[in-house]
Amino acid sequence: MRVLKNISEIASKVQASTTLQVDALYKRMKAKGIDVIGFTAGEPDFDTPDNIKEAALRAINENRTKYTPAAGIPELRSAIAKRLLTDCNIEYTPEQIVVASGAKHSIYIALQVLLNPGDEVILPAPYWVTYFDAIKMAGGVPVVIPATKEADFKITAEQLSDAVTGKTKLLILNNPSNPTGMLYDAHELRALANVCLRHDLYIMSDEVYYQFVYDGKEFTSVAALGRDIQERTIIVNGVSKTYAMTGWRIGYTASGTRLAEVMSNYLSHSTSAPSTISQIAAVEALNGPQDSVFTMRDTFLERRNYIVKRINDMNGVSCANPDGAFYVMLCIEKLIGKTLGGKLIENSDDFALVFLESGLVATVSCTGFGIDNYLRLTYAASMENIKEGMDRLEKFLGG
Ligand code: GLU
Repeated sequence: MRVLKNISEIASKVQASTTLQVDALYKRMKAKGIDVIGFTAGEPDFDTPDNIKEAALRAINENRTKYTPAAGIPELRSAIAKRLLTDCNIEYTPEQIVVASGAKHSIYIALQVLLNPGDEVILPAPYWVTYFDAIKMAGGVPVVIPATKEADFKITAEQLSDAVTGKTKLLILNNPSNPTGMLYDAHELRALANVCLRHDLYIMSDEVYYQFVYDGKEFTSVAALGRDIQERTIIVNGVSKTYAMTGWRIGYTASGTRLAEVMSNYLSHSTSAPSTISQIAAVEALNGPQDSVFTMRDTFLERRNYIVKRINDMNGVSCANPDGAFYVMLCIEKLIGKTLGGKLIENSDDFALVFLESGLVATVSCTGFGIDNYLRLTYAASMENIKEGMDRLEKFLGG
């Protein structure tokens, strides 16, 4: 038999996304009629608001179904620039906005455009799983620095400074963070940004959860800290989480003009622009009434309070109180070496598997997020499911 030549070395090392993998498994189990509760992919369980759906239907009926410029329709790029000014107090021209097929795609494109082979990217752990592989897909080298529980899962300026080498190109921030839910305040961001200024680093700031911040805490975009920081920052955001539009696939970057131009060129040879209909729906999301966002935020807060209390009332597990996003990290440190559901628990992968098989609850092990002994649970799930899931956890733990 003829042996075929090897496929791309970079591509063959790419791991499947753990979040999407476990979500697909959960959905397969559900489709088979198994009574499983899912806390897997972080996507609002709310429907996309009616005004947004109606805008999409109008677009179809008015035959707005043709190609658009690769970086998105001008009205969407303007709507994004306007929202960044209103919500985050940062000025961008529409030309500095590049629309892509979801925030994940924006991250991918930005990394492809920023990195040369061997460039180092500083990535605080726990991190959202995709950053790690997307860096490598662009030929970059992830340099992981720990954001420890003791430091509220945040890195310090000293840690950042210590990790910088002659090859460092970029710092990735995710604020508020998936999976930790922690929020860097303006003061902490300023300290990190100063290190980036001193060492001439870019900052990619994924702010996709910016509207979901609780307890009166205030979200600050790192780009809002000054012109000098803005020019080295690439903001990543999208409509998926804020407007319950995960399936519409609209993400965007806001960056310097040159970077935006190159990203647009890159898109023009790869995916082109996302679906025209989704772009028109996103214009309505950004320009239309915002009340649904605040309703969702209030609901997430109620669920966060419930799930955090339930977890911390149980024996053997605990979690920190997240400032934002819609995830909690369940700490299972104390259960390592114990037997649960008839299996020895050696790490969080073991726990997630046994909890799914015997407890019938699907969660995401945080090993894919660069930390062991934790599981990520999303509270973008109905209160009914959260209550049932917590009851099952308590039972599983023998409480
Ligand atoms: N970002 C969400 C999550 O972390 C959606 C799934 C994904 O794309 O990873 O669950």
